[in-house]
Amino acid sequence: MSGRVAFVGAGPGDPGLLTARALELIALADVILYDRLIPSSALAGARAGAELRYVGKEGGGPSVAQDQIEALMLERAVAGSLVVRLKGGDPFVFGRGGEEALALRAAGIPFEVVPGVTAGVAAAAYAGIPVTHRGLASAVALITAHEDPSKDETAIDWGALAAFPGTLVFYMGVRTLATLTARLIAAGRPAAQPAAIVARGTLPDQQVVLGTLETIAQAAAAAGVAAPAVTIVGDVAQLAGELAWVTAGPLAGASVVVTRARAQASELASRLQSLGAAVIEAPAIRIVPAAGEDLPALEGFDLVCLTSANGVELFFERLAARGEDARALAGATVAAIGPGTARALRERGVIADVVPERFVAEGLIDALAGVEFTRVLIARASGARDVLPDALRERGAQVTVVGLYDTVAEPIDRSAAPAIAAADYVTFTSSSTVRFFLESAKLGESTRVVSIGPVTSDTLREHGVNVDLEAARHDIDGLIEAIVADRTGGVA
Ligand code: SAH
Repeated sequence: MSGRVAFVGAGPGDPGLLTARALELIALADVILYDRLIPSSALAGARAGAELRYVGKEGGGPSVAQDQIEALMLERAVAGSLVVRLKGGDPFVFGRGGEEALALRAAGIPFEVVPGVTAGVAAAAYAGIPVTHRGLASAVALITAHEDPSKDETAIDWGALAAFPGTLVFYMGVRTLATLTARLIAAGRPAAQPAAIVARGTLPDQQVVLGTLETIAQAAAAAGVAAPAVTIVGDVAQLAGELAWVTAGPLAGASVVVTRARAQASELASRLQSLGAAVIEAPAIRIVPAAGEDLPALEGFDLVCLTSANGVELFFERLAARGEDARALAGATVAAIGPGTARALRERGVIADVVPERFVAEGLIDALAGVEFTRVLIARASGARDVLPDALRERGAQVTVVGLYDTVAEPIDRSAAPAIAAADYVTFTSSSTVRFFLESAKLGESTRVVSIGPVTSDTLREHGVNVDLEAARHDIDGLIEAIVADRTGGVA
Protein backbone atom coordinates (compact mmCIF):
# COMPACT_ATOMS: atom_id res chain seq x y z
CA MET A 1 0.00 0.00 0.00
CA SER A 2 1.56 3.29 -1.08
CA GLY A 3 -1.38 5.68 -0.88
CA ARG A 4 -1.63 8.56 1.51
CA VAL A 5 -3.75 11.57 2.33
CA ALA A 6 -2.81 15.23 2.68
CA PHE A 7 -5.13 17.53 4.61
CA VAL A 8 -4.56 20.79 2.86
CA GLY A 9 -5.76 24.22 3.89
CA ALA A 10 -6.68 26.32 0.86
CA GLY A 11 -6.88 29.62 2.73
CA PRO A 12 -9.86 31.96 3.02
CA GLY A 13 -10.52 32.68 -0.66
CA ASP A 14 -7.84 34.91 -2.17
CA PRO A 15 -5.86 32.47 -4.35
CA GLY A 16 -2.69 34.33 -3.39
CA LEU A 17 -3.10 32.95 0.11
CA LEU A 18 -2.68 29.31 -0.95
CA THR A 19 0.60 28.07 0.49
CA ALA A 20 3.48 26.83 -1.66
CA ARG A 21 3.02 23.33 -0.21
CA ALA A 22 -0.72 23.42 -1.02
CA LEU A 23 0.00 24.24 -4.66
CA GLU A 24 2.63 21.52 -4.81
CA LEU A 25 0.27 18.85 -3.48
CA ILE A 26 -2.62 19.99 -5.69
CA ALA A 27 -0.33 19.50 -8.69
CA LEU A 28 0.69 16.01 -7.53
CA ALA A 29 -2.67 14.68 -6.36
CA ASP A 30 -4.40 11.69 -7.93
CA VAL A 31 -7.62 12.54 -6.13
CA ILE A 32 -8.79 15.88 -4.73
CA LEU A 33 -11.77 15.92 -2.40
CA TYR A 34 -12.72 19.54 -1.99
CA ASP A 35 -15.10 21.69 0.02
CA ARG A 36 -17.18 24.66 -0.96
CA LEU A 37 -15.14 27.52 0.46
CA ILE A 38 -11.93 27.05 -1.50
CA PRO A 39 -10.51 29.65 -3.91
CA SER A 40 -12.07 29.31 -7.34
CA SER A 41 -8.70 28.79 -8.97
CA ALA A 42 -7.35 26.32 -6.41
CA LEU A 43 -7.95 23.36 -8.71
CA ALA A 44 -6.37 24.99 -11.75
CA GLY A 45 -3.03 23.35 -11.14
CA ALA A 46 -4.43 19.82 -10.80
CA ARG A 47 -3.17 17.16 -13.18
CA ALA A 48 -5.36 16.61 -16.23
CA GLY A 49 -6.10 13.05 -15.15
CA ALA A 50 -6.78 13.78 -11.48
CA GLU A 51 -10.15 12.88 -10.00
CA LEU A 52 -11.68 16.10 -8.67
CA ARG A 53 -14.62 15.55 -6.41
CA TYR A 54 -16.80 18.08 -4.63
CA VAL A 55 -17.81 16.83 -1.20
CA GLY A 56 -18.98 20.09 0.34
CA LYS A 57 -22.19 21.07 1.93
CA GLU A 58 -25.03 23.00 0.34
CA GLY A 59 -27.06 25.52 2.31
CA GLY A 60 -26.42 24.07 5.73
CA GLY A 61 -27.31 20.43 5.09
CA PRO A 62 -24.52 18.03 4.20
CA SER A 63 -24.66 16.89 0.56
CA VAL A 64 -22.08 14.21 1.23
CA ALA A 65 -22.24 12.74 4.71
CA GLN A 66 -19.11 12.91 6.81
CA ASP A 67 -18.77 9.12 7.03
CA GLN A 68 -19.08 8.89 3.26
CA ILE A 69 -16.28 11.41 2.80
CA GLU A 70 -14.10 9.42 5.18
CA ALA A 71 -14.97 6.15 3.43
CA LEU A 72 -14.12 7.61 0.02
CA MET A 73 -10.84 9.03 1.30
CA LEU A 74 -9.87 5.65 2.83
CA GLU A 75 -10.86 3.73 -0.28
CA ARG A 76 -8.77 5.89 -2.62
CA ALA A 77 -5.77 5.91 -0.31
CA VAL A 78 -5.90 2.14 0.14
CA ALA A 79 -5.95 1.82 -3.65
CA GLY A 80 -2.61 3.64 -3.70
CA SER A 81 -3.67 7.19 -4.57
CA LEU A 82 -2.31 10.43 -3.24
CA VAL A 83 -5.50 11.99 -1.90
CA VAL A 84 -5.64 15.71 -1.22
CA ARG A 85 -8.41 16.64 1.18
CA LEU A 86 -8.75 20.32 0.34
CA LYS A 87 -10.52 22.50 2.88
CA GLY A 88 -11.16 26.20 3.20
CA GLY A 89 -8.91 28.13 5.57
CA ASP A 90 -6.99 25.82 7.85
CA PRO A 91 -7.97 22.13 7.86
CA PHE A 92 -7.74 21.87 11.64
CA VAL A 93 -9.71 25.01 12.47
CA PHE A 94 -13.44 24.16 12.43
CA GLY A 95 -12.82 22.03 9.39
CA ARG A 96 -13.41 18.54 10.82
CA GLY A 97 -9.88 17.75 9.73
CA GLY A 98 -9.11 16.25 13.10
CA GLU A 99 -11.97 13.76 12.81
CA GLU A 100 -10.92 12.70 9.35
CA ALA A 101 -7.31 12.31 10.47
CA LEU A 102 -8.43 10.09 13.36
CA ALA A 103 -10.25 7.85 10.90
CA LEU A 104 -7.05 7.53 8.86
CA ARG A 105 -4.92 6.84 11.92
CA ALA A 106 -7.38 4.11 12.94
CA ALA A 107 -7.02 2.57 9.51
CA GLY A 108 -3.23 2.88 9.56
CA ILE A 109 -3.09 5.22 6.56
CA PRO A 110 -0.30 7.80 6.53
CA PHE A 111 -1.24 11.46 6.25
CA GLU A 112 0.24 14.93 6.23
CA VAL A 113 -1.34 18.20 7.34
CA VAL A 114 -0.75 21.45 5.48
CA PRO A 115 -1.98 24.36 7.59
CA GLY A 116 -3.83 27.10 5.80
CA VAL A 117 -4.47 30.76 6.42
CA THR A 118 -7.54 30.68 8.62
CA ALA A 119 -10.51 32.89 7.72
CA GLY A 120 -10.88 34.55 11.10
CA VAL A 121 -7.39 36.00 11.10
CA ALA A 122 -7.26 36.68 7.34
CA ALA A 123 -10.66 38.35 7.00
CA ALA A 124 -9.79 40.57 9.96
CA ALA A 125 -6.45 41.50 8.36
CA TYR A 126 -8.12 42.34 5.04
CA ALA A 127 -10.49 44.59 6.95
CA GLY A 128 -7.56 46.36 8.60
CA ILE A 129 -8.02 44.64 11.96
CA PRO A 130 -5.01 43.08 13.68
CA VAL A 131 -6.46 40.39 15.96
CA THR A 132 -3.86 41.24 18.62
CA HIS A 133 -2.46 44.71 19.20
CA ARG A 134 -0.24 46.16 21.90
CA GLY A 135 -2.40 47.78 24.50
CA LEU A 136 -5.69 46.61 22.96
CA ALA A 137 -5.58 42.81 22.96
CA SER A 138 -2.94 40.29 23.95
CA ALA A 139 -5.05 37.21 23.32
CA VAL A 140 -7.44 36.03 20.64
CA ALA A 141 -10.12 33.34 20.79
CA LEU A 142 -11.45 31.54 17.72
CA ILE A 143 -15.00 30.43 18.41
CA THR A 144 -17.59 28.59 16.40
CA ALA A 145 -20.99 30.18 16.75
CA HIS A 146 -22.58 27.33 14.90
CA GLU A 147 -24.66 26.09 17.78
CA ASP A 148 -28.03 27.68 18.19
CA PRO A 149 -27.42 30.10 21.05
CA SER A 150 -31.10 30.14 21.95
CA LYS A 151 -30.77 26.58 23.18
CA ASP A 152 -30.13 26.35 26.88
CA GLU A 153 -27.80 23.39 26.62
CA THR A 154 -25.48 25.26 24.23
CA ALA A 155 -21.84 24.22 24.58
CA ILE A 156 -20.62 27.82 24.63
CA ASP A 157 -19.71 29.17 28.06
CA TRP A 158 -20.95 32.74 27.62
CA GLY A 159 -19.65 33.91 30.98
CA ALA A 160 -16.14 32.75 30.14
CA LEU A 161 -16.28 34.34 26.68
CA ALA A 162 -17.60 37.63 28.03
CA ALA A 163 -14.72 37.70 30.50
CA PHE A 164 -12.09 36.63 27.95
CA PRO A 165 -9.28 39.20 28.07
CA GLY A 166 -8.83 39.69 24.34
CA THR A 167 -10.37 39.55 20.88
CA LEU A 168 -13.25 37.19 20.12
CA VAL A 169 -13.49 35.91 16.54
CA PHE A 170 -16.69 34.05 15.73
CA TYR A 171 -16.87 31.72 12.72
CA MET A 172 -20.28 30.90 11.21
CA GLY A 173 -23.41 32.10 12.93
CA VAL A 174 -24.46 34.98 10.65
CA ARG A 175 -28.08 34.07 11.23
CA THR A 176 -27.67 33.82 14.97
CA LEU A 177 -25.68 37.04 15.33
CA ALA A 178 -28.43 38.94 17.20
CA THR A 179 -28.81 36.19 19.81
CA LEU A 180 -25.05 35.81 20.08
CA THR A 181 -24.35 39.47 20.78
CA ALA A 182 -27.27 39.71 23.21
CA ARG A 183 -25.90 36.70 25.12
CA LEU A 184 -22.47 38.27 25.35
CA ILE A 185 -23.87 41.55 26.65
CA ALA A 186 -26.06 39.71 29.16
CA ALA A 187 -22.98 37.85 30.34
CA GLY A 188 -21.14 41.12 30.95
CA ARG A 189 -19.24 42.01 27.78
CA PRO A 190 -19.47 45.84 27.34
CA ALA A 191 -22.24 46.74 24.88
CA ALA A 192 -20.15 49.61 23.52
CA GLN A 193 -17.17 47.41 22.64
CA PRO A 194 -16.15 47.78 18.97
CA ALA A 195 -17.21 44.94 16.68
CA ALA A 196 -16.91 44.15 12.99
CA ILE A 197 -18.34 41.58 10.63
CA VAL A 198 -16.39 40.63 7.52
CA ALA A 199 -18.18 38.65 4.84
CA ARG A 200 -16.37 36.95 1.94
CA GLY A 201 -13.13 38.17 3.50
CA THR A 202 -10.08 38.38 1.18
CA LEU A 203 -12.32 37.98 -1.88
CA PRO A 204 -12.83 40.79 -4.38
CA ASP A 205 -16.35 41.41 -3.08
CA GLN A 206 -15.37 41.43 0.58
CA GLN A 207 -17.85 43.28 2.73
CA VAL A 208 -16.97 44.92 6.04
CA VAL A 209 -19.53 46.28 8.48
CA LEU A 210 -18.40 48.10 11.63
CA GLY A 211 -20.31 48.79 14.82
CA THR A 212 -20.38 47.90 18.47
CA LEU A 213 -21.38 44.70 20.18
CA GLU A 214 -24.81 46.26 20.62
CA THR A 215 -25.30 47.54 17.06
CA ILE A 216 -23.40 45.06 14.89
CA ALA A 217 -26.20 42.52 14.41
CA GLN A 218 -28.63 45.16 13.18
CA ALA A 219 -26.02 46.85 11.03
CA ALA A 220 -25.11 43.52 9.44
CA ALA A 221 -28.75 42.74 8.71
CA ALA A 222 -29.27 46.21 7.22
CA ALA A 223 -26.23 45.74 4.98
CA GLY A 224 -27.50 42.34 3.87
CA VAL A 225 -24.46 40.46 5.16
CA ALA A 226 -24.60 36.76 4.31
CA ALA A 227 -22.35 33.78 5.00
CA PRO A 228 -19.47 33.15 4.89
CA ALA A 229 -18.59 35.78 7.45
CA VAL A 230 -16.64 36.15 10.65
CA THR A 231 -17.53 38.47 13.50
CA ILE A 232 -14.78 40.16 15.45
CA VAL A 233 -15.51 41.53 18.88
CA GLY A 234 -12.91 43.54 20.74
CA ASP A 235 -11.16 46.89 20.96
CA VAL A 236 -8.97 45.97 17.96
CA ALA A 237 -12.05 46.35 15.72
CA GLN A 238 -11.77 50.13 16.13
CA LEU A 239 -8.53 50.03 14.09
CA ALA A 240 -10.46 49.10 10.95
CA GLY A 241 -11.27 52.74 10.34
CA GLU A 242 -7.61 53.68 10.30
CA LEU A 243 -6.01 50.56 8.83
CA ALA A 244 -8.45 49.58 6.07
CA TRP A 245 -6.23 49.04 3.05
CA VAL A 246 -8.17 47.04 0.46
CA THR A 247 -9.21 49.40 -2.30
CA ALA A 248 -11.99 48.55 -4.69
CA GLY A 249 -10.85 47.86 -8.26
CA PRO A 250 -12.81 48.96 -11.34
CA LEU A 251 -14.42 45.52 -11.53
CA ALA A 252 -15.43 45.34 -7.85
CA GLY A 253 -18.84 43.77 -7.55
CA ALA A 254 -18.75 42.23 -11.03
CA SER A 255 -18.74 38.48 -11.52
CA VAL A 256 -17.06 37.15 -14.65
CA VAL A 257 -17.14 33.63 -16.07
CA VAL A 258 -13.93 32.38 -17.69
CA THR A 259 -14.47 29.57 -20.18
CA ARG A 260 -10.89 29.02 -21.34
CA ALA A 261 -9.15 25.72 -20.81
CA ARG A 262 -8.16 25.26 -17.17
CA ALA A 263 -4.49 25.24 -18.08
CA GLN A 264 -4.75 28.66 -19.73
CA ALA A 265 -7.37 30.32 -17.58
CA SER A 266 -5.16 31.51 -14.77
CA GLU A 267 -3.72 34.61 -16.42
CA LEU A 268 -7.13 35.96 -17.39
CA ALA A 269 -8.65 34.92 -14.06
CA SER A 270 -5.98 36.47 -11.90
CA ARG A 271 -5.95 39.72 -13.86
CA LEU A 272 -9.71 40.01 -13.55
CA GLN A 273 -9.44 39.28 -9.85
CA SER A 274 -6.77 41.87 -9.31
CA LEU A 275 -9.19 44.42 -10.76
CA GLY A 276 -11.76 43.36 -8.20
CA ALA A 277 -13.93 40.94 -10.18
CA ALA A 278 -15.23 37.72 -8.72
CA VAL A 279 -14.16 35.05 -11.20
CA ILE A 280 -16.14 31.91 -11.91
CA GLU A 281 -13.94 29.40 -13.67
CA ALA A 282 -15.99 27.21 -15.99
CA PRO A 283 -13.48 25.71 -18.41
CA ALA A 284 -15.41 24.52 -21.46
CA ILE A 285 -12.47 23.08 -23.37
CA ARG A 286 -9.37 21.06 -22.83
CA ILE A 287 -6.27 20.99 -25.05
CA VAL A 288 -4.97 17.55 -25.97
CA PRO A 289 -1.88 17.04 -28.15
CA ALA A 290 -2.88 15.72 -31.57
CA ALA A 291 -1.71 12.19 -32.21
CA GLY A 292 -0.27 11.15 -35.51
CA GLU A 293 0.63 14.20 -37.53
CA ASP A 294 4.40 14.57 -37.71
CA LEU A 295 6.15 17.89 -37.65
CA PRO A 296 8.21 17.95 -40.85
CA ALA A 297 11.93 18.81 -40.79
CA LEU A 298 12.18 22.60 -40.71
CA GLU A 299 14.98 23.00 -43.22
CA GLY A 300 13.72 24.59 -46.40
CA PHE A 301 10.77 26.37 -44.86
CA ASP A 302 11.26 30.11 -45.20
CA LEU A 303 8.16 31.07 -43.22
CA VAL A 304 6.79 29.43 -40.06
CA CYS A 305 3.42 30.63 -38.74
CA LEU A 306 2.23 29.93 -35.20
CA THR A 307 -1.33 30.77 -34.30
CA SER A 308 -1.61 30.30 -30.52
CA ALA A 309 0.42 30.04 -27.33
CA ASN A 310 -0.67 26.40 -27.07
CA GLY A 311 0.64 25.83 -30.55
CA VAL A 312 4.01 27.30 -29.59
CA GLU A 313 4.24 25.09 -26.52
CA LEU A 314 3.44 21.91 -28.42
CA PHE A 315 5.63 22.92 -31.36
CA PHE A 316 8.63 23.19 -29.06
CA GLU A 317 7.72 19.94 -27.34
CA ARG A 318 7.78 18.21 -30.73
CA LEU A 319 11.12 19.79 -31.56
CA ALA A 320 12.58 18.78 -28.20
CA ALA A 321 11.34 15.22 -28.64
CA ARG A 322 13.62 14.88 -31.63
CA GLY A 323 16.55 16.67 -30.06
CA GLU A 324 16.03 20.10 -31.64
CA ASP A 325 15.50 23.55 -30.17
CA ALA A 326 14.87 27.15 -31.20
CA ARG A 327 17.84 27.03 -33.61
CA ALA A 328 15.72 24.87 -35.93
CA LEU A 329 13.88 28.12 -36.78
CA ALA A 330 17.09 29.97 -37.64
CA GLY A 331 16.54 30.01 -41.39
CA ALA A 332 12.89 31.02 -41.36
CA THR A 333 10.80 34.14 -40.90
CA VAL A 334 8.63 33.50 -37.85
CA ALA A 335 5.09 34.88 -37.74
CA ALA A 336 2.88 34.96 -34.64
CA ILE A 337 -0.83 35.64 -34.83
CA GLY A 338 -0.89 37.90 -31.78
CA PRO A 339 0.99 39.09 -28.71
CA GLY A 340 0.17 35.99 -26.61
CA THR A 341 1.73 33.78 -29.25
CA ALA A 342 4.66 36.17 -29.62
CA ARG A 343 5.18 36.10 -25.85
CA ALA A 344 5.18 32.30 -25.82
CA LEU A 345 7.83 32.39 -28.58
CA ARG A 346 9.92 34.93 -26.71
CA GLU A 347 9.86 32.72 -23.61
CA ARG A 348 11.51 30.08 -25.81
CA GLY A 349 14.14 32.44 -27.17
CA VAL A 350 12.51 33.40 -30.47
CA ILE A 351 11.49 36.93 -31.36
CA ALA A 352 8.65 36.84 -33.86
CA ASP A 353 9.44 38.71 -37.09
CA VAL A 354 5.82 39.38 -37.91
CA VAL A 355 2.97 40.16 -35.49
CA PRO A 356 -0.13 41.65 -37.11
CA GLU A 357 -2.09 44.61 -35.84
CA ARG A 358 -5.29 42.59 -35.84
CA PHE A 359 -4.85 39.25 -34.10
CA VAL A 360 -6.85 37.07 -36.48
CA ALA A 361 -5.84 35.05 -39.54
CA GLU A 362 -6.90 37.90 -41.84
CA GLY A 363 -4.66 40.28 -39.92
CA LEU A 364 -1.72 37.94 -40.32
CA ILE A 365 -2.34 37.69 -44.05
CA ASP A 366 -2.21 41.49 -44.34
CA ALA A 367 0.92 41.66 -42.20
CA LEU A 368 2.64 39.15 -44.50
CA ALA A 369 1.95 41.27 -47.59
CA GLY A 370 5.49 42.60 -47.84
CA VAL A 371 7.23 39.35 -46.86
CA GLU A 372 8.88 37.03 -49.40
CA PHE A 373 8.35 33.27 -48.99
CA THR A 374 7.94 30.13 -51.02
CA ARG A 375 7.67 27.29 -48.53
CA VAL A 376 5.43 27.87 -45.52
CA LEU A 377 4.78 25.78 -42.42
CA ILE A 378 1.64 26.54 -40.42
CA ALA A 379 1.56 24.85 -37.04
CA ARG A 380 -1.80 25.23 -35.32
CA ALA A 381 -4.88 23.54 -33.86
CA SER A 382 -6.27 20.57 -35.79
CA GLY A 383 -9.35 21.57 -37.70
CA ALA A 384 -8.74 25.34 -37.53
CA ARG A 385 -10.06 27.60 -40.30
CA ASP A 386 -8.32 27.39 -43.67
CA VAL A 387 -8.27 31.15 -44.27
CA LEU A 388 -4.54 31.47 -43.71
CA PRO A 389 -3.27 28.46 -45.73
CA ASP A 390 -5.68 29.28 -48.58
CA ALA A 391 -4.55 32.90 -48.79
CA LEU A 392 -0.86 31.98 -48.73
CA ARG A 393 -1.39 29.32 -51.42
CA GLU A 394 -3.11 31.96 -53.53
CA ARG A 395 0.07 33.95 -53.30
CA GLY A 396 1.88 31.01 -54.87
CA ALA A 397 3.42 29.54 -51.74
CA GLN A 398 3.79 25.86 -51.04
CA VAL A 399 1.98 25.46 -47.72
CA THR A 400 2.23 22.62 -45.20
CA VAL A 401 -0.26 22.60 -42.35
CA VAL A 402 0.37 20.59 -39.18
CA GLY A 403 -2.35 20.12 -36.56
CA LEU A 404 -0.55 20.10 -33.23
CA TYR A 405 -3.48 19.77 -30.88
CA ASP A 406 -7.14 19.08 -30.62
CA THR A 407 -9.57 21.05 -28.56
CA VAL A 408 -12.03 18.79 -26.79
CA ALA A 409 -15.05 19.49 -24.63
CA GLU A 410 -14.67 19.74 -20.88
CA PRO A 411 -18.12 19.23 -19.39
CA ILE A 412 -18.95 22.10 -17.07
CA ASP A 413 -19.46 21.24 -13.43
CA ARG A 414 -23.20 21.21 -12.68
CA SER A 415 -22.62 22.84 -9.33
CA ALA A 416 -21.38 25.94 -11.19
CA ALA A 417 -24.67 26.43 -13.07
CA PRO A 418 -26.33 28.86 -10.62
CA ALA A 419 -23.21 31.04 -10.40
CA ILE A 420 -22.87 31.06 -14.20
CA ALA A 421 -26.51 32.02 -14.69
CA ALA A 422 -26.16 34.87 -12.18
CA ALA A 423 -22.86 36.19 -13.56
CA ASP A 424 -22.51 39.72 -14.91
CA TYR A 425 -20.20 38.69 -17.76
CA VAL A 426 -19.25 35.52 -19.63
CA THR A 427 -16.02 35.65 -21.61
CA PHE A 428 -15.34 33.67 -24.77
CA THR A 429 -11.80 33.52 -26.09
CA SER A 430 -12.31 31.20 -29.06
CA SER A 431 -15.00 29.57 -31.16
CA SER A 432 -14.43 26.27 -29.42
CA THR A 433 -15.11 27.78 -26.01
CA VAL A 434 -18.44 28.99 -27.42
CA ARG A 435 -19.45 25.65 -28.92
CA PHE A 436 -18.51 23.52 -25.94
CA PHE A 437 -19.80 25.96 -23.33
CA LEU A 438 -23.23 26.06 -24.93
CA GLU A 439 -23.28 22.26 -25.01
CA SER A 440 -23.20 21.96 -21.25
CA ALA A 441 -24.15 25.31 -19.72
CA LYS A 442 -26.76 28.05 -19.97
CA LEU A 443 -26.26 31.78 -20.14
CA GLY A 444 -28.14 33.92 -17.66
CA GLU A 445 -30.73 36.38 -18.99
CA SER A 446 -28.93 39.49 -17.85
CA THR A 447 -25.43 38.15 -18.33
CA ARG A 448 -23.36 40.19 -20.79
CA VAL A 449 -21.56 38.17 -23.42
CA VAL A 450 -17.98 39.23 -24.12
CA SER A 451 -16.11 38.01 -27.18
CA ILE A 452 -12.40 38.27 -27.88
CA GLY A 453 -12.84 39.06 -31.55
CA PRO A 454 -14.87 38.79 -34.77
CA VAL A 455 -14.43 35.06 -35.36
CA THR A 456 -15.61 34.17 -31.88
CA SER A 457 -18.46 36.69 -32.24
CA ASP A 458 -19.59 35.05 -35.49
CA THR A 459 -19.67 31.67 -33.77
CA LEU A 460 -21.73 33.16 -30.94
CA ARG A 461 -24.23 34.65 -33.39
CA GLU A 462 -24.43 31.36 -35.29
CA HIS A 463 -25.57 29.84 -32.00
CA GLY A 464 -28.20 32.54 -31.56
CA VAL A 465 -26.26 34.39 -28.87
CA ASN A 466 -26.20 38.16 -28.89
CA VAL A 467 -22.70 39.60 -28.48
CA ASP A 468 -22.76 42.46 -25.97
CA LEU A 469 -19.08 43.35 -26.06
CA GLU A 470 -16.34 42.57 -28.54
CA ALA A 471 -12.73 43.32 -27.65
CA ALA A 472 -11.17 46.00 -29.86
CA ARG A 473 -7.82 44.28 -29.37
CA HIS A 474 -8.23 40.56 -29.87
CA ASP A 475 -6.30 39.33 -26.89
CA ILE A 476 -6.59 39.06 -23.11
CA ASP A 477 -5.74 42.72 -22.59
CA GLY A 478 -8.41 43.75 -25.04
CA LEU A 479 -10.97 41.50 -23.42
CA ILE A 480 -10.27 42.99 -19.99
CA GLU A 481 -10.32 46.53 -21.38
CA ALA A 482 -13.74 45.92 -22.89
CA ILE A 483 -15.19 44.75 -19.58
CA VAL A 484 -13.60 47.60 -17.61
CA ALA A 485 -14.92 50.13 -20.14
CA ASP A 486 -18.40 48.61 -19.97
CA ARG A 487 -18.31 48.61 -16.20
CA THR A 488 -17.01 52.13 -15.79
CA GLY A 489 -18.94 53.63 -18.67
CA GLY A 490 -15.70 54.48 -20.47
CA VAL A 491 -14.80 53.86 -24.07
CA ALA A 492 -13.15 50.56 -24.99
N1 SAH B 1 -11.37 25.81 8.24
C1 SAH B 1 -11.90 27.12 7.97
C2 SAH B 1 -13.21 27.40 8.68
C3 SAH B 1 -14.32 26.49 8.24
S1 SAH B 1 -15.85 26.87 9.01
C4 SAH B 1 -10.84 28.17 8.31
O1 SAH B 1 -9.85 27.86 8.95
O2 SAH B 1 -11.03 29.32 7.93
C5 SAH B 1 -16.59 27.93 7.82
C6 SAH B 1 -16.68 29.33 8.37
O3 SAH B 1 -15.45 29.99 8.16
C7 SAH B 1 -17.69 30.20 7.67
O4 SAH B 1 -18.98 29.98 8.16
C8 SAH B 1 -17.17 31.57 8.02
O5 SAH B 1 -17.48 31.92 9.34
C9 SAH B 1 -15.69 31.35 7.95
N2 SAH B 1 -15.18 31.74 6.64
C10 SAH B 1 -14.67 30.94 5.68
N3 SAH B 1 -14.26 31.68 4.62
C11 SAH B 1 -14.50 32.97 4.94
C12 SAH B 1 -14.27 34.21 4.28
N4 SAH B 1 -13.71 34.26 3.07
N5 SAH B 1 -14.64 35.35 4.90
C13 SAH B 1 -15.20 35.31 6.13
N6 SAH B 1 -15.44 34.17 6.80
C14 SAH B 1 -15.09 33.02 6.22
